[in-house]
Amino acid sequence: MSKKFSTVAKLITLLIVVGIGFAFLSLITYDNMKKMKKNIDIIYFGSYVQVVKLKEINEYLGRDIPETIIRYNNNLLSRDYTILALNEYREKIINNWDYYKNTYKTKDEKALLQSVDRIIRSSLEWIDALAISIEGAEEISIRNMYDNITIIKKSINQLVKHETDAAYLRKKDINQDYEETLFSMLLILIATVVVVLSIAYFISKSIKDKENKLFKLAKELSFANKELKNLTITDPLTTLFNRRYFNTIFDKELKKAKREKKAITFMMIDIDFFKKFNDTYGHIAGDENLKEVSLALKNNLRRPNDYAFRLGGEEFGVLIYDYSVQKATILAERLIEAVRELDIEHKSSDVAPQVTISLGFVSIIPPKDLDAEKLIQSADDALYRAKDGGRNRYYAKYSLT
Ligand code: GH3
Ligand code: MG
Ligand code: MG
Repeated sequence: MSKKFSTVAKLITLLIVVGIGFAFLSLITYDNMKKMKKNIDIIYFGSYVQVVKLKEINEYLGRDIPETIIRYNNNLLSRDYTILALNEYREKIINNWDYYKNTYKTKDEKALLQSVDRIIRSSLEWIDALAISIEGAEEISIRNMYDNITIIKKSINQLVKHETDAAYLRKKDINQDYEETLFSMLLILIATVVVVLSIAYFISKSIKDKENKLFKLAKELSFANKELKNLTITDPLTTLFNRRYFNTIFDKELKKAKREKKAITFMMIDIDFFKKFNDTYGHIAGDENLKEVSLALKNNLRRPNDYAFRLGGEEFGVLIYDYSVQKATILAERLIEAVRELDIEHKSSDVAPQVTISLGFVSIIPPKDLDAEKLIQSADDALYRAKDGGRNRYYAKYSLT
């Protein structure tokens, strides 16, 4: 996975997964809310309202009508008012019963409904009979009335019980739906979290991989940079520092010596009769010679801030910081000796049977007004004196004159 898909692609997948997860959750929540609302409606309109309507019928028959009759019997109500009241209760019973009958009923319920319907009809007839008796100014038998009421109330209560049971069953269904929904929401949540976590794991892994790669590249780059720098500051043939590097370093070291009031030693070295060497042994052998002499010079410089340069052709420079004149002199002798010890045959040399060098150096604590040019010239002059003095030797200057 880490190779096939980019981090961005993985992040997009992550977002999509999170989005889908939440979309599913919202869908299920929405669906469940709709279901719950429907169930509440069913319980409310399918059971609660119906039970209320039935209970009202029971109240008209079991409380309101008997109270009216008792008050009529006790001459507390007029005949007309009593008849009016009875008609009103009769109307209300019919309305409630019609409402109840017209709601949705199953087959079993319809059978029960029909038997109660007959009883309700007979109760209406009984109310009509009551009204006729009152019109005839008869007294109503209370006992007879309660017998009638008891029968009707019993059948209505049967219906109420039926509706209550139905509501109870419905509530059980709702509870089950609710638990199922909760469970599926939990499953989706877990699945989303698992997928999100695994994608996040792959993303962090690929970021780490890329980080490692980048780190490796940075290391390689810094190595390459160092190589490049070496190439720009070294002479390819001899691997000594080149003229360009000499220009920057020389100035720096001179300034440092002035600042710190330390001695600076600059040596100029030239191979003796090198033209003749080339003429005798060929240019390629000449190059080899240059390499070997360079190496001999380099190997005799011990400290990290001792520099050996190839200034051009068969001419070299050595820069030494903070050396006493004695030490500088010893070094000059050692370098000449080291080249001689290479024992490279040079039959056409006028000074020795082997390759030799001449060396001129200046070793001073530089005064403030000394510039690089002057110091180089002075060393060059010392070299000329070494050549002039017979070659294969050094000439030392401990001042600029
Ligand atoms: P002196 O003792 O006075 O220094 O005499 P010299 O012959 O060494 O000096 P000169 O300046 O007359 O000759 C220097 C020669 O160095 C000339 C040139 O052919 C040779 N040379 C310069 N650069 C290179 C190089 O890179 N390779 C080779 N093989 N020869 C070089
Ligand atoms: Mg020369
Ligand atoms: Mg020379």
